[in-house]
Amino acid sequence: MGFNIAIDGPAGAGKSTIAKRAAKELQFIYVDTGSMYRAIGLYMDRQGLDLTDEALISSRVSEADVSINYVNGEQQVLLNGENVSTLVRTEAVGAMASKVSAYPAVRAHLLELQRKLAKEADVLMDGRDIGTCILPNADVKIYLTADPAVRAKRRCLELEQKGIPCDPQAVLQQIIDRDYQDMHRETAPLRQAEDAVLVDTSSMTIDEVVNEIIRLADAKRKQEPEM
Ligand code: C5P
Repeated sequence: MGFNIAIDGPAGAGKSTIAKRAAKELQFIYVDTGSMYRAIGLYMDRQGLDLTDEALISSRVSEADVSINYVNGEQQVLLNGENVSTLVRTEAVGAMASKVSAYPAVRAHLLELQRKLAKEADVLMDGRDIGTCILPNADVKIYLTADPAVRAKRRCLELEQKGIPCDPQAVLQQIIDRDYQDMHRETAPLRQAEDAVLVDTSSMTIDEVVNEIIRLADAKRKQEPEM
């Protein structure tokens, strides 16, 4: 079993930016589980299926072979062999992911892949249910959050930097809707694991958050002498 760091939290809390940086500094593999759900959402949408039809989506999930690949340390998500890493990054695909991720069959489809990755290497994995379901024995668990208005502002800035115009009110509403959906589903809802450290990034810089994660990992590693 590798050394496992689980980071969970709501949409736009900065998980991927922070997790990517912390993983690089720790020389861990970064596993972005959200992109796997996004790939499944994209697949179902491309098939023209009704994403609210649980029985239909569940019966078709085995057609979506999701795997991951690393190129120069960067994670790529492959959907039936196609690199969809960039395609899945839109807010529309995020909303599709949020719909299909509520279905137990979809979660079961990805669970083994996620656990296998954590078994094989030192990983920093982010998502919604990593500390609560996927890696309940993770060495370090962090619940990363921030005020919704701050999260919306950051998301807008990110979009504008890519030259995409942004309506702050609409982004805030999308974040609120996605969080509600993720927190209120029956299977593996987003919540803070009892043994997770809460990190509220509302008034922290990226560097401060990354340093906090590294500090928590180092403290844990000192407690657990290498075998
Ligand atoms: O983190 P990201 O925004 O890429 O996640 C997209 C969606 O995938 C989330 O809103 C959530 O519904 C789902 N997800 C999940 N469990 C995870 C990771 C993501 O349900 N471990």
